[in-house]
Amino acid sequence: MFPICRSITGEGLRETLRMVGSEVPLELVETPTGVTVLDWTVPNEWNIRAAWIEAPDGQHVVDFANSNLHVLNYSAPVDATVPLEELRKHVFTHPRDPDLVPYRTSYYVEQWGFCMSRRQLDALPAGEYRVFIDSTLAPGSVSYGEAVFSGATDEEVLITTYACHPSLANDNLSGVATLTEVGRALAAQPRLRYTYRLLWAPGTIGSICWLARNRDRVERIRHGLVVSCVGDPGPFTYKCSRRGDAEIDRAVAHVLRSTPGSRVLDWFPYGGDERQFCSPGFDLPVGAFSRTPADQFPQYHSSADDLELVRPESLGESFATLMDVIDVIESNGTYVNLSPYGEPQLGRRGLYRGIGGGSSEEMALLWVLSMSDGTMSLLQIAERSGLDISDLRHAADRLEETGLLALAGVVSGQPTHASD
Ligand code: ZN
Repeated sequence: MFPICRSITGEGLRETLRMVGSEVPLELVETPTGVTVLDWTVPNEWNIRAAWIEAPDGQHVVDFANSNLHVLNYSAPVDATVPLEELRKHVFTHPRDPDLVPYRTSYYVEQWGFCMSRRQLDALPAGEYRVFIDSTLAPGSVSYGEAVFSGATDEEVLITTYACHPSLANDNLSGVATLTEVGRALAAQPRLRYTYRLLWAPGTIGSICWLARNRDRVERIRHGLVVSCVGDPGPFTYKCSRRGDAEIDRAVAHVLRSTPGSRVLDWFPYGGDERQFCSPGFDLPVGAFSRTPADQFPQYHSSADDLELVRPESLGESFATLMDVIDVIESNGTYVNLSPYGEPQLGRRGLYRGIGGGSSEEMALLWVLSMSDGTMSLLQIAERSGLDISDLRHAADRLEETGLLALAGVVSGQPTHASD
């Protein structure tokens, strides 16, 4: 996928989504140019075939065929001969590193432009330059890809990533690839509690299109994550949902507790698509999961965000951590101690080995019994006790088997989990 020229619209984006679709059951959804989506209007579709700058000596200074970063993403077409001073007004360079080619976009202001290193720009001799960009900005559509993995309930978990950046590896092919693996893993699960909806969409306009088309569905969303920049070697960063105390916030914090260097940040209103999902009208429980956040690694939005920056072991660890989070939300539940007056006699039920001091297994039994008054979930008990939710889950299962515990909200034998 790396060499494909992606943008918020166009064939490169579709080609990328089709590649995802060869791994998971993906539906491609198109929203036509001109359609009103929430407060936005779907823009023209951008497609590009070739672009270059020809120096006075006939050499190509930069060529789109070598790197799609050389063209301002969403650039208008141009075919002209201009003096160096005029060309310079249309060339973008990296603000800090003179050797890097920046990634720049101009989605909503129509202009033509190129990107190159400061060193290359400064070395250009005076003279007339031919500038050529064979692109089109014309009615088409915004595309996104959606894959659904059905669970036992129609309560949903929404996991999204953006697929609109051209040749940048960590930001965000790492997210595109990791979400694809999550999809493959979900497809292989024999039984899921939640229905999982995975979304590969162009940033901002893609999530806005999805929200506009799914207003009647959003109330089913119990948990959500926006995944991006998960291939660099930096520690994990999780940004909580706008709510700040959603179950997904607790679940990710619980998983990251055992990953050194991880950070859990409070909500802030800039960043990725979580801004749309958490806008006050929707206020969905959606957090943002990454390693080093987008604008905080030095290679961000430049030619240095390449396949060297993304490490296989980092991608693998990100995938495993996301699956751990899924495991936590799948296994969380709120229970009621059915023998709450004094401690129930565990030895009689084969639950207490009488070795004194308390093994971690017995500690888990005691914590679940002590806290399960129908208001506190296993995840909250994990926070309070410092124990792992998988141990608490195992204890809850054993207590349920012996009739000492039941799911909260059990009505005439039909368990309805009360995870909210
Ligand atoms: Zn970016």
